[in-house]
Amino acid sequence: MRKIEHIGIAVKDLKNANETYTKLYGKPPYKEERVESEGVATAFFQVGENKIELLEGTNDDSPISKYIAKRGEGIHHIAYDVSDIESERQRLIDEGFEAIGGIRKGADNKLVCFFHPKSTHGVLLELCQDRPE
Ligand code: ZN
Repeated sequence: MRKIEHIGIAVKDLKNANETYTKLYGKPPYKEERVESEGVATAFFQVGENKIELLEGTNDDSPISKYIAKRGEGIHHIAYDVSDIESERQRLIDEGFEAIGGIRKGADNKLVCFFHPKSTHGVLLELCQDRPE
């Protein structure tokens, strides 16, 4: 893992949250993107060297909608940048971390995969690797 790539925050209403975070940072998100396969609408803010991802569920079955129904809005995951997502995912599985699904296309031109919070002391973990457009 090379660095924290971004922190994901689950929000009920992306439009409303975008307004809040635009005020907070003094600039709008650099990207907004829906990932229908994951049931999410996302917005990304650049904060110096760091990124914040806001996520809204696009349907009731979306993991984000379920998360908010259960736990309310808040920090949803921490994403780590990796150079080789396949080998890093396998390394974590070999170390006993519990993968959720396989590697797939995520927002912001990334390949992503996730590990269950119960294997990481309560924080959903995302690995992401840049993918060419
Ligand atoms: Zn993310």
